[in-house]
Amino acid sequence: MTRLSEYLLPTEKQAPADAEALSHKLMVRAGLVRQVGSGLWTYLPAGWRVHENVVQIVREEMDRIGGQEMLMPVLTPAELWQRSGRYDSVGAELFRLEDRRGAPMVLAMTHEETVTSHVAQVVRSYRDLPLILYHFQTKERDEPRPRAGVLRTREFIMKDAYTFDRDPEGLDAGYRKHIDAYDQIFDRVGLEWYRVESDVGMMGGSAAHEYMAPCAAGENDVALAPGYAANVEIARADARPVELPAGIAAPEEVHTPGLVTVQEVADKLRVAAGSLLKAFPVIVEDRGLVLVIVRGDHRVNDIKLTNALGATFRPAREDEFAERIGPAGYIGPVGADVPVLLDDAVEPGAYVTGANREGHHLRGVEPGRDFPFKRADVRRVEPGDTVGGHAIRIEPAIEVGNIFKLNTRYSEPLGATYLDEFGTARPIYMGSYGIGPARIAAAAVEQYADEQGISWPKAIAPFDLHLVGLGRAGSEERELAERLYGELLETGLRVLYDDREDVGPGSKFSDAELLGVPVRLTVGRRTLANGEIEAQVRRGREDRTLPLDGAAQAAADLWRNAP
Ligand code: ATP
Ligand code: MG
Repeated sequence: MTRLSEYLLPTEKQAPADAEALSHKLMVRAGLVRQVGSGLWTYLPAGWRVHENVVQIVREEMDRIGGQEMLMPVLTPAELWQRSGRYDSVGAELFRLEDRRGAPMVLAMTHEETVTSHVAQVVRSYRDLPLILYHFQTKERDEPRPRAGVLRTREFIMKDAYTFDRDPEGLDAGYRKHIDAYDQIFDRVGLEWYRVESDVGMMGGSAAHEYMAPCAAGENDVALAPGYAANVEIARADARPVELPAGIAAPEEVHTPGLVTVQEVADKLRVAAGSLLKAFPVIVEDRGLVLVIVRGDHRVNDIKLTNALGATFRPAREDEFAERIGPAGYIGPVGADVPVLLDDAVEPGAYVTGANREGHHLRGVEPGRDFPFKRADVRRVEPGDTVGGHAIRIEPAIEVGNIFKLNTRYSEPLGATYLDEFGTARPIYMGSYGIGPARIAAAAVEQYADEQGISWPKAIAPFDLHLVGLGRAGSEERELAERLYGELLETGLRVLYDDREDVGPGSKFSDAELLGVPVRLTVGRRTLANGEIEAQVRRGREDRTLPLDGAAQAAADLWRNAP
């Protein structure tokens, strides 16, 4: 029974002054969440209903693939994180503290260490595997930039699941089960989503996918073409071809005083920006100076470059490269005393490069003939590139879930082994699989909201029906609304009944549109006069009428067909 007169739903006309993302504004205005501190949020009753609707869908799909729900604590002995190496490798994002005895502790930001330590203790033989273990638990992360309401918070609930298998084939099977479950989950919650290939990083993983919900507040960029979806962090595509000037017998110096940007040089020499080569000197960990080269109209992608180098890097300072290459603004590969890494998109031909001399460039430079190089794909894809002949587009999206093959990254340091059929101890193969219910809720707001407010997908809406009663207590229309409320409850639907006495029709309607329940019903004097109930499907705000007779059933049907 939910009567708005007794329910905590503090709607606001104004969004918080610091709110930029639509979901931040609307979830606060609709009375769903309230901020406690930076990146810290309380879910009010209606907001928590949405969160828990998402949780329930996730739970059902996890159980369907054989997941076993459990619960591990947030407060964790630092020792586990020391054993995995993450106590040192994770920076300030990890909350570290001490208990009263001075023992170092962490607040878990994820639970690989804890779950692996249990499995190390309890799994003995190959007969104990495979296992899928999961929980819904609070994660603590001292995010550098908490933002956008509940999209990026410092405390949030995550569903994290872990698979434990005998070998890589078992891990593949567990991974595929999670793809099935996740596809189901994101369909069922009603999001527009795609699964994209993502960076496995240098953590020893071998495959990773992210589930992305396209929306304006998204912090990721996703490259999309028919049959192709990848995080721009790792996306590969064929570059738009560039028209190169005719070759010449040997590079020739051209005077370009004061021209340091690609466009300035291209304009002066009347060539396309793509026929220049841009040079980036970087210092690679344990290796020193490397000159990375991409086409003039392309950009270096740091993650792809890190992966290609197999090591971290940083941009070199001028004092670190000037002597071995040339002065900043005019550097190029010809005659440079450093290894050159040339991007795959640089086709054979004659290019313009820096001449390694102040105020000068070279034209007619041909990779191979004029400088030695190694190749790698290190550029960021651009709109207009193609995959399989189809142009890609790049869209902002928010990550709502991800799946990751960990292999033995955690089982080895934490000693999670099993005895195979021959009694030999082998490391367990693991995968880890996260979902953020709060992100799903906020992404749904982002995707479907309009000027009037939220429009929840039916599956996660806080209520199914929003009944607006207009008459005063004791009036005939009010009696009718009360009776309809009772009938609606009997259909098994979750009904929010706006029975407030001191609120006018305009405010009731605008609150309903703000809250975004899929179907709104209105009972007022018009109902009495016409024998009809006004109904509105929130998505699209289409109005219609339902005959008073059998109205509860008709409303339930309307709800069933709503998006
Ligand atoms: P991001 O790149 O957005 O920081 P992440 O890679 O750190 O995400 P995971 O550690 O893989 O995320 O967490 C799994 C899921 O938990 C994410 O897909 C997302 O749905 C959710 N999540 C992660 N960080 C946050 C956060 N700060 N606030 C709310 N939800 C989060
Ligand atoms: Mg993160």
